[in-house]
Amino acid sequence: MKKLSILFLSVFIFTLASFGQDQPKLVVGIVVDQMRQEYLYRFEKKFGENGFKRLMNGGFMLTNAHYNYVPTFTGPGHASIYTGTTPAIHGIIGNEWWDKNLKKTVNCVEDDRQKPVGANDGNGDVSPWRMLSTTITDELELFTQRKSKVIGVSIKDRGAVLPAGHLADAAYWFDNSSGKFISSTYYMTTVPAWVEKFNTLKLADAYINKEWNTLLPISQYTESGPDDSPYEKILVGKEKATFPYDLGKLQKANGGFDLLCHSAYGNDLLTDFVFATLKGEGLGKNTVTDFFTISFSSTDLVGHSMGPNSVEIEDTYLRLDKNIETILAKLDEEVGKGNYLVFLTADHAVVEVPQSLKDSKIPGGYLVSGKKMGDELNAFLQKNFPGKNLIENVSNQQVFFNSDLFSGDPKSAGIDLLIATELAANYLQSKEGVAQVHTKSALKQGNYGEGGIKGMMVRGFNHKRSGDVVYELEPAWLDDWSVTRGSSHGSPYSYDTHVPILFYGKGISKGTSAVRHSITDLAPTLSVLLKIKFPSGCTGNPITEIVDGK
Ligand code: ZN
Ligand code: ZN
Repeated sequence: MKKLSILFLSVFIFTLASFGQDQPKLVVGIVVDQMRQEYLYRFEKKFGENGFKRLMNGGFMLTNAHYNYVPTFTGPGHASIYTGTTPAIHGIIGNEWWDKNLKKTVNCVEDDRQKPVGANDGNGDVSPWRMLSTTITDELELFTQRKSKVIGVSIKDRGAVLPAGHLADAAYWFDNSSGKFISSTYYMTTVPAWVEKFNTLKLADAYINKEWNTLLPISQYTESGPDDSPYEKILVGKEKATFPYDLGKLQKANGGFDLLCHSAYGNDLLTDFVFATLKGEGLGKNTVTDFFTISFSSTDLVGHSMGPNSVEIEDTYLRLDKNIETILAKLDEEVGKGNYLVFLTADHAVVEVPQSLKDSKIPGGYLVSGKKMGDELNAFLQKNFPGKNLIENVSNQQVFFNSDLFSGDPKSAGIDLLIATELAANYLQSKEGVAQVHTKSALKQGNYGEGGIKGMMVRGFNHKRSGDVVYELEPAWLDDWSVTRGSSHGSPYSYDTHVPILFYGKGISKGTSAVRHSITDLAPTLSVLLKIKFPSGCTGNPITEIVDGK
């Protein structure tokens, strides 16, 4: 008995020495792709006590946190959360963008030098190399001389890779073709045995063969519109966009495992993988703080297909509430109550289906796609520059000129480009649904701290990577959208910028604040809490309501 208590005492002293600085054993960053702040309130009555509400009631909640740049897309959002800065500095200007030097569209995490690990094929040629500044996760690795374990997981590759940073021990994402969680040669040469074992369980196959029906009786979904709605995408093989969804029957005609990602079960599958990671890697059992980044993607995919007012999205959030509950319970068990720090936020929010607003007398609409806009601009500019297709690409509401076509006579080339830029800007400004157009030179001269939509454009504009002309649409307008079913995001308006920020656990006092904060304030807040350096490009400030007195 005496020997046993000496053993306990020495374990206790060792633990004290290891965590003498009173640091969390584990930081868990949860990003919910496409989550609006208002969902916390709209669905609150249906949430259990131990999921979202455990974070809301037991932690610190910001009720007025916003993205402070455009475009509000997934890649830029994840990069901004973790770098504490905006595309102007971290360089992730879209999910994909036109690379002026390579003269092709590149994905934000695409890296030709890498290969998939864990499946022979699939979307594995990725790394965070296009992100130009450090992340909070990188800073933790630098501070601890790389003793920290940093791991990122998501259904989407970019949701795993960008948060985990350049120095991550691993990032894992779901491969639609094999149904496995995979990684890339950027991180490792083979996946660990626990990943291998997880993949042999074939959980993706099990989920895709389940029927997706509502968690509660459908009559209780009073926080959403009718299930049978003209604003939701209809799956191939269904007559209406209504429950139940027989995924097993529908999968073949709807992209196989891609359909699983477009259902609430994508989040369940990721949650299973989260448990496997916690156990397989022993996260939070280190001598220094570990960092686990989790990004739930199915909220975004269901949101795109069905819109924010659908029963499908409500059900996805009620199920995600259960996922959050089980993750917190698992952290209590594995890492210990009070030993971990959690934050939850989103990479952007979403607009109502524009057609549904139009039908309700609220302005909104649809602009032509970038491709069509490029054709229109080329035709228009040919009046002044006959026989030349000056526009090389229009994407993410940015116009890219083909600079080669201006490099004939050196005396006139520069002037021609300026004239073409102004003409294109004037043409765009005259289009119905276009709110503001700014040229590259106007944005380069802009002040990084500037207010309004132009300021958001300046913070989203990377001098090396962005286009020659940038335009923003009026509220509730979408482009690149050929149908009036489903929705999207990307704008500077509050329906896209207003996201939850919740902090919970080690070192966090209960409270709420309606002070306006930018997403770029999240990473420096973590720096202060963890007593580590700010990320290299950080332009945000610590949230004083959370860190004061620390
Ligand atoms: Zn997203
Ligand atoms: Zn999206």
